[in-house]
Amino acid sequence: MANDRRETFLAEAARMYDEIMLWNEEHAEGSLEELESFLREKRLALMSHLLTNVLELRAEKLAEEPHPSPSCGVLMASEALRARYAQTLEGEARFQRAYYSCRTCSEWISPLDRHLGLDRSAWSRSIQEGITALRISLPVRRAANIFQDLTGIWISPSTVYRLNHKKKTSLPLKQIKQAEEIW
Ligand SMILES: [Zn+2]
Repeated sequence: MANDRRETFLAEAARMYDEIMLWNEEHAEGSLEELESFLREKRLALMSHLLTNVLELRAEKLAEEPHPSPSCGVLMASEALRARYAQTLEGEARFQRAYYSCRTCSEWISPLDRHLGLDRSAWSRSIQEGITALRISLPVRRAANIFQDLTGIWISPSTVYRLNHKKKTSLPLKQIKQAEEIW
């Protein structure tokens, strides 16, 4: 299984290399900005592939291990595979991971989510912090656009708004309020 993943990834990387070289022939006089934008899109696609592989491997490895309940220590039973989506600065992943439950204390967890530090949000901590930092001095739509310019990742203005209204930042509340009043 791990070898299949490796072969698929390497085939994808080789295909992408050819695609980039072909693009370069067709855009021989293109600007550095065009090249940057094209390569970033490719990088995110390739890293998304890798991220998905890594998370699938972790989920498989965890499925082979016993999982004591964090609350009471009793071994939990594997309940169900659930789909999950995660977006990071290095790409996105859709993967399946197991949920476990404890018959004694009713604990219900996904060990992989716990290891990864994934809460209910699909966005990695770096993305959330980046968006929060931009949002302090910019209106929602502008923050979304600049974040996309910098990272190649589109986060809708409504999500930008939501991220900032559930997440506490390290700035004092008064300072955030003052910054927001400007807009
Ligand atoms: Zn328990």
